[in-house]
Amino acid sequence: MAEGFESAYLELYRSGALKTRVAEAYRRLENCNICARECGVNRRESAKGAACRTGERAVVSSYAPHFGEESPLVGREGSGTVFFSWCNLMCQYCQNYEISQLGYGQEVEPENLAAMMLRLQSMGCHNINFVSPSHVVPQILAGLLIAAAAGLHLPLVYNTGGYDSLKTLELLDGVVDIYMPDIKYADEAVARRYSKVKNYPAVNQAAVKEMHRQVGDLVTNEHGVALRGLLVRHLVLPEGLAGTREVVRFLAEEISPDTYLNVMDQYRPCHKAGSLPPLDRRTSRQEYDEAVQMALGAGLTRLDKREPRLIWLFR
Ligand code: SF4
Repeated sequence: MAEGFESAYLELYRSGALKTRVAEAYRRLENCNICARECGVNRRESAKGAACRTGERAVVSSYAPHFGEESPLVGREGSGTVFFSWCNLMCQYCQNYEISQLGYGQEVEPENLAAMMLRLQSMGCHNINFVSPSHVVPQILAGLLIAAAAGLHLPLVYNTGGYDSLKTLELLDGVVDIYMPDIKYADEAVARRYSKVKNYPAVNQAAVKEMHRQVGDLVTNEHGVALRGLLVRHLVLPEGLAGTREVVRFLAEEISPDTYLNVMDQYRPCHKAGSLPPLDRRTSRQEYDEAVQMALGAGLTRLDKREPRLIWLFR
């Protein structure tokens, strides 16, 4: 941790504001608009009608130090991931669909979540990385309140599919240190077809703007480990379905040319993708190279290091 750096939520914890945010977040579960789907169901009573199929308790599939995330999150000791089950997106090609769409995992109380965070901290992880958090923000805040009281001090990573409500992001202002949203699509119809979601580009771009307003461009310590800021992921899909040209234009012109971006090449057909051409094949090397060139051409230079190295190796 850099000298003088303090994770954002500690100030809110000391002032008592974190407790108020927990209460407000749980109130919103009663007519749920926690994510941009705005289902309007009472999740404190049941999960019936909730697109994320999650009731009052979060479901966790696993938690562990993770070494496969972006290098500023991993450092030497790993990123402390907590993988939530269920999701507010229904990507037809999801490689974790047993977790995201079948709900494999265990229901947990906030005390259990707090214990996971503290365990990851004691294992030496550089951060607490909430994976698929958009539908369980109240539960995360409740767990955080307990963990902060017990000595949690690591920065928090909000690792999201990017379909987040602005009102919920307000609750996270001053809580989250590092936002890591996906920008999955630039075309509304494509998002509806392949992730079963409305208005993804508009919701996603507004959310990314708000995240950047809160935390700014990515800042790292002297060892290159992330402390605060925005880190964006963009998975290149076959036949340009992810709308890369528009995504990189948006980032360069409407967010910042210093945005840290991971252009990801690991698409492979999973779940229902085998019957949804052109998603029934991997992204080609040429498609990926073109996506990286688009990002560079748009003026984005902070690309995740693993990718340019791979390009170099394959040339
Ligand atoms: S979190 Fe989102 S998907 Fe889940 S019930 Fe609330 S509005 Fe619906």
